[in-house]
Amino acid sequence: MQNEYEIKKEMCEIGKRVYNRGMVAANDGNFSVKLNDHEFLCTPTGVSKGFMTPEYICKVDENGNVLEANEGFRPSSEIKMHMRVYQKRPDVRAVVHAHPLYATTFAIAGIPLTKPIMPEAVIALGYVPLAKYGTPSTMEIPDSVEPYLQNFDAVLLENHGALTYSDSLLAAYHKMESVEFYARLLYQTMQIGGPQEFSDAQVERLYEIRRQMGLTGRHPADMGRNGQPEENL
Ligand SMILES: [Zn+2]
Repeated sequence: MQNEYEIKKEMCEIGKRVYNRGMVAANDGNFSVKLNDHEFLCTPTGVSKGFMTPEYICKVDENGNVLEANEGFRPSSEIKMHMRVYQKRPDVRAVVHAHPLYATTFAIAGIPLTKPIMPEAVIALGYVPLAKYGTPSTMEIPDSVEPYLQNFDAVLLENHGALTYSDSLLAAYHKMESVEFYARLLYQTMQIGGPQEFSDAQVERLYEIRRQMGLTGRHPADMGRNGQPEENL
């Protein structure tokens, strides 16, 4: 079990990866980690996530109120979006928000990532829905992502970026990488005549593999016939 300081160091490490892979520009992006039901660590606003040290990291409660922050640092203005995810998904331990180039390109074009084109993306993500546009830092974004939280672990934010969440910070970050790789493949195949898509039967076989792997999180493979997770049927 990591102590708090180790988690802060890991957040700085993930910040470097997000920044160095071009998933954000300048001071954009934010992520958070749940310590317990009342304490969450989050990245500060107004700093590059590629150059953080542990003392940059802020601590907030379940309502996003500041519990700890060193002088000059304030929690991300998007903390409300993170808190909505934790509220609706008790299994989630970390949330990552970024603006990866290709995923954000689709988000700006208003196109969700729904074409089944490669096994890993189908198994890891299923497909990635598009939450309708909301003004940053307002309750519009939490409200727009909420309908997707029960069935997906990755969502595009219209005209904005992407949101991923999982049972660890590394897993949430990896989901962001998977979303961006999928978006990039889709974009590039669209330039050379369009992707060959899997048939429904091929998708179903991949969904079956995912079920057998016993992966954590939520995924369209777990939805029942009327679009609800099996447990709600
Ligand atoms: Zn953003």
